[in-house]
Amino acid sequence: MSFAAPGLSQALQKAIKEQGYTALYPIQEQAIPAILKGKDVLGIAQTGSGKTAAFALPILELFHKKTTSKNRFVKALVLVPTRELAVQVEETFYNLSLHLTQKVKTLAVYGGVSINPQMMKLSGTDVLVATPGRLLDLVEHNAVKLSEVEILVLDEADKMLNLGFKEEMDRIFGLLPAKRQNLLFSATLGGDIQTIVDTQLHNPVTIAV
Ligand code: AMP
Repeated sequence: MSFAAPGLSQALQKAIKEQGYTALYPIQEQAIPAILKGKDVLGIAQTGSGKTAAFALPILELFHKKTTSKNRFVKALVLVPTRELAVQVEETFYNLSLHLTQKVKTLAVYGGVSINPQMMKLSGTDVLVATPGRLLDLVEHNAVKLSEVEILVLDEADKMLNLGFKEEMDRIFGLLPAKRQNLLFSATLGGDIQTIVDTQLHNPVTIAV
C-alpha cells in the first residue's frame, strides 16, 4: 500500500515507508500541516500515538532546506524528561532523515553520563534533544547557545513537571528568543501545564488523540 504525506519531501516519504508506516497516525495527520505552516501546537497524546514522528517529520522538512546550524547555535530544541526518551527521539530523527541530501544533525544529551563527550559532539547540531538539567549544564559551559532556536518542542511535558523540572524549564524559556514556534506534547493537561500553555504558546492548534 502506498500513501502520500502532504507537504513532505520524497526523501522523507521514502524514510516513512522504510519504517514500515502504511498510513499516518491521527496525531501526524493533524500536527504535520499545522507545524509546516509555522503554527504552535498543543498535542494531547500518549506514548504510542506516533507523537515523535508528528514533530520530527515537519521539523526535518522545514530544516533540510536551510543551511546547517552555526557551530553551537542549535535551531530546534526538544526537551524531554528522561534519558531513554532522549535516545528514542534522536533515533526517530535519525531514521527519518536518512535520505535527505542536505543533512540535519540531531544529537541527544542527558544527565547521568559524563558531559565532555557530549560537548565534543555538539558542533553543528541542528536539532538538540535534551533533558533540562544537562541542557543547563551545557549552556553554563558555553557549549550550546539557545539564542537562535526557531522551534521548541516540549515532549511529555507532564512527565517533565512530575519529575520536578519546572524551575529548569522556566530558566530555559528565559534563554530562548521570544519569537519562536512552540510544540507541546503531554498526556494530560492541567496545573502547571496550563500555565506553560498560557505563557509560552501563541494561539496553538490543539490536537487531542
Ligand atoms: P511514539 O508515540 O512517537 O513513541 O511512537 C510509537 C511507535 O509507533 C514507534 O515505534 C513508531 O515507530 C511507531 N509509529 C509512529 N508512527 C507510525 C505510523 N504512522 N505507522 C506505523 N507505526 C508508527
